[in-house]
Amino acid sequence: MTANTENTFDLIIVGAGAVGCAVARELSRFDLKIAVLEKESDVAAGTSGRNSAVVHAGFNNKPGSLMAKLCVEGNEGFEKVCTELDVPYRKTGKLIVAFDKSDFAGIDKLMENGRKNGVKGLEFVGADVVGKLEPHVGGIGAMLSPNTAITSPFLYTVALAENAARNGVRFYFETEVNGITKRDSLFRLSAGNRHFYSRYIINSAGLYSDRISSLAGEKGYTIYPCRGEYFILDKRTSQYLNMPVYPVPRPGIGGLGVHLTPTVEGNILIGPSAEYIKSKSDYGATKSVMDQLFKEAKELLPPLEMKHIIRSYTGIRSKLVGPKTGGFGDFIIEESKVVSGLINLIGIESPGLTSSVPISRMVRDILSNKEELKEKKDFIPTRKGIVQFRDLTLEKKEELIKQYPEYGEIVCRCEGITKKEIIEAINNPLGVTTLAGIKYRARPMMGRCQGGYCLTRIVDILKEQKGIQPEQVTMRGNESKLFTGSVK
Ligand SMILES: Cc1cc2nc3c(=O)[nH]c(=O)nc-3n(C[C@H](O)[C@H](O)[C@H](O)COP(=O)(O)OP(=O)(O)OC[C@H]3O[C@@H](n4cnc5c(N)ncnc54)[C@H](O)[C@@H]3O)c2cc1C
Repeated sequence: MTANTENTFDLIIVGAGAVGCAVARELSRFDLKIAVLEKESDVAAGTSGRNSAVVHAGFNNKPGSLMAKLCVEGNEGFEKVCTELDVPYRKTGKLIVAFDKSDFAGIDKLMENGRKNGVKGLEFVGADVVGKLEPHVGGIGAMLSPNTAITSPFLYTVALAENAARNGVRFYFETEVNGITKRDSLFRLSAGNRHFYSRYIINSAGLYSDRISSLAGEKGYTIYPCRGEYFILDKRTSQYLNMPVYPVPRPGIGGLGVHLTPTVEGNILIGPSAEYIKSKSDYGATKSVMDQLFKEAKELLPPLEMKHIIRSYTGIRSKLVGPKTGGFGDFIIEESKVVSGLINLIGIESPGLTSSVPISRMVRDILSNKEELKEKKDFIPTRKGIVQFRDLTLEKKEELIKQYPEYGEIVCRCEGITKKEIIEAINNPLGVTTLAGIKYRARPMMGRCQGGYCLTRIVDILKEQKGIQPEQVTMRGNESKLFTGSVK
């Protein structure tokens, strides 16, 4: 095995989801040479970009489980991380609504779980309080969780990655690890004909963490994919919902029930469903599930109408429990007992987003038990995101337009996104130039027309900024090209 210094690292993280990027950021505090290998063309391309975006409080998880402990810790520290990294965060609170008396037993159980897990502030509220907090939601009472919050999982993951990159972590996209060997305490990770060497592997490959563990020599884990489908509603519906509203969970597959969640951008999400599927890459939406979603959502929020739907998406849970068992497993966060130096993060289903930073600290502690970690003196804990021009005061807008005239040009009319914001998204610190990367960073193409108006303008700006010809522009890298040639 020949390793050169260029592609040899102290530590390689496989997977650039919220968990991998949180680990990258946490470990970038120390004097370590770190790489992140990601098979897709950007961060958050797996489950981290496809979830409910809720910063859970921790009352759903089994007392004594890692999930419960890390969720509560994650919830308590989430706002600070979002402040440091300039990520949207809104402490909305959350209601678990009872629709008939049989739901009260479920609420009692959640309150009891929450108490055991150390969740603060949970209280039972009557129909009058529900009516005040959420005038459009029915119900005969609810559990109120004041510390539940919402965030942007994509911007959160981007921010963790950008901050890690600023602190020296190298990101390799479109780099799928498909072989791992080990000799003389050094792993060799192969991605096609490229090879990377490392003393440690952090396996944060989400749905494929069983595969990475197996490639490295520890077989025996199985991840069962469990799909959740969602609808996204037009921002016009934002008046109907102030906070996430969930039904009382019922025993079953291991989701939290179809719920309604406001997003930090002002849309509402309906979903997710919960359905075990065979393929880990089957992101399809199905008519029967979508019809059922809408029906259940309308029961929670009667003013909803089909015309409010602007699109759908799907996320896939990485479950360690199969369809026969159902329910939830627990996070596995440990160094493999079979392969020294392999740190497995497996079964990171919900609340994995909320728990990502505490998970990263557990990884740090596992490493620091193996060797001394030397803190860097020049670690930079903060990062600035792209200015959201539409939210600024008129005075501030005028000031910025004087400084940067591109703020005066609206490119995405639905979301009110300016050319300057698109330019900043194109010139992101991770070097991502896909249309999806621009879309999720600056929000063009996310409104009612879904890019019908602005897509070609963004392609022009990509050419102007990076010299990328339209025929080379992709939606998500690899084979997702949009144009084959000019018509004129
Ligand atoms: C429907 C749904 C709703 C959810 N809602 C919430 C919520 O509201 N709150 C919450 O806290 N949690 C929620 N979760 C859970 C949360 O989204 C996940 O726990 C979290 O995103 C997991 O992050 P991750 O980094 O482990 O995995 P991922 O985001 O899946 O990242 C793994 C990465 O590894 C990459 N990869 C895989 N194989 C390879 C390979 N061979 N080589 C290189 N790269 C590879 C993938 O491309 C992927 O980018 C939800 C999950 C689902 C499915």
